[in-house]
Amino acid sequence: MLPDIDKRVAGLNDRYRHHAAVSVMEKALKDPDTGEVALVSSFGAESVVLLHMVSVIAPGTPVLFIDTMMLFQETLDYQQEVAAKLGLTDVRVIRAADAALRLDDPDGTLHQFNTDACCALRKTVPLEQALSGFDAWITGRKRYQGDTRATIDFFEVETPARMKINPLAHWGREDLEEYIIQNRLPRHPLVAKGYPSIGCAPCTSPVKPGEDPRAGRWRGQSKTECGIHFIGGKAVRVKNDAQETETKEKVA
Ligand code: SF4
Repeated sequence: MLPDIDKRVAGLNDRYRHHAAVSVMEKALKDPDTGEVALVSSFGAESVVLLHMVSVIAPGTPVLFIDTMMLFQETLDYQQEVAAKLGLTDVRVIRAADAALRLDDPDGTLHQFNTDACCALRKTVPLEQALSGFDAWITGRKRYQGDTRATIDFFEVETPARMKINPLAHWGREDLEEYIIQNRLPRHPLVAKGYPSIGCAPCTSPVKPGEDPRAGRWRGQSKTECGIHFIGGKAVRVKNDAQETETKEKVA
């Protein structure tokens, strides 16, 4: 059994506080204090950065990909392309259980009238189940993404049994772009078509020049965050920069 999570997280942050993102990723995958680690990836617009880091350090790391069965075909194709190109050997496709889909969204229209319930059904619950066997998961959260993330550390306590690891905590958009270019990584094909943030097809639209990169997600709704992040065992829905964090049972 692993020691107390608060002590482990504090120790990890102390040891690696001044390390660069790639080094944090390497330590996260090798330090015994992190335990069993998975990377959760949407294979979206910027996902290839963390996927590439993992592929260089430990390509057999479990990569959890949530297929909501509402994704763009381009995302499904890109997932296959990136996994093959980077040599990722343990990509696990996570989906909602058939019985749950039949019960709660038999005709696939739940997203039209209750996006929170749809996200819970297709994302939150399956991910939580998939993460249950892990001690830590790697996220792409960054400080620049808003007030609620402005002070995130590389290592965070999520629950008494699990931590989050944020190797890109101190990166900006330009760092991501530079990394992708320098390493000649494939871009999601929808980025070039005006989608700087990519989720499910029914809930994602292109973004106009000058708009917030996430403006195309759940356009016209107050829902703004993909928010697969848990506090005390519950998912946390994070609103945009000017708004406060709101704890919900359901997220996207
Ligand atoms: S983003 Fe839309 S389609 Fe995807 S799970 Fe959430 S509500 Fe459903």
